[in-house]
Order: sequence, then C-alpha cells, then structure tokens
Amino acid sequence: MSSAMKNVLLLVLLLGVAGLAGWFFVRGDPEKKLPDTAESATQWICVQCKKKIDLTARQFEEWRKSPDKIRRDPNYDASQVVFWCDDCKKFSVVRAFFCREHNLWYWTKDPEGRTGSCPECEKLMRQ
Ligand SMILES: [Zn+2]
Ligand SMILES: [Zn+2]
Repeated sequence: MSSAMKNVLLLVLLLGVAGLAGWFFVRGDPEKKLPDTAESATQWICVQCKKKIDLTARQFEEWRKSPDKIRRDPNYDASQVVFWCDDCKKFSVVRAFFCREHNLWYWTKDPEGRTGSCPECEKLMRQ
C-alpha cells in the first residue's frame, strides 16, 4: 500500500470517527445525562403487594414519560405520581417513606389520595 493511500484511509477513518461522535452528540438528549446512581434514587412502594422499588433519577424520568408506567387518570389528582405495579397489574405504586422507629416502609398518600402514615406509629397513637 502506498503512503498516499494510507493517508487517504486514515483521513476517511478520522472523518468517520468524527461523524459518529457528532451523531452521538446530537442524538444524546439531556435526560440521558440524569444520574443513574443509587444516590439519586427515590423509594417507591406498592400499596397492594408492599413491593419496594428504588428508582434512580433516570429511571424515574423514563417511567414518568412512559404512558404505561404512570397513571394519567383525570379522575385523580394529577400532582400525585402513581406508577404501575407489574405484579398487581394496577396503578398502585406510590412514594415510600421510612419509619426509623419501626424499621418499615410506608406511604403518606395511597393511590386514591388518602393520607396514611407508619401503621405501627398509628397503632401507638390510637392507644
Ligand atoms: Zn404490587
Ligand atoms: Zn413507625
């Protein structure tokens, strides 16, 4: 192979790499840069089967945008985010909170918008 030919090949290769990089740059939307780390995760719980789900910031954004993951029912308060539970086959996943006292997860608002708290704390309050 002549050195001129090698130079041409190298140029083509470089252009190809630059083009690919540019393509990724244009294609990459800002959401893809949301952290996918454990630190960015929020905790969610299914009120039916009590399954705990950790969603990283990126997963949350993906679920929030997915019509079959997030409840979009005009009959409910749109400010409350309720996700789909694959096991229960219904929208029953809400934000989870942790009671340090009783070492358990609970929710402050169920999918119907009813307020709640740690069941063990509630028991104590009722006594
Ligand atoms: Zn469930
Ligand atoms: Zn408690």
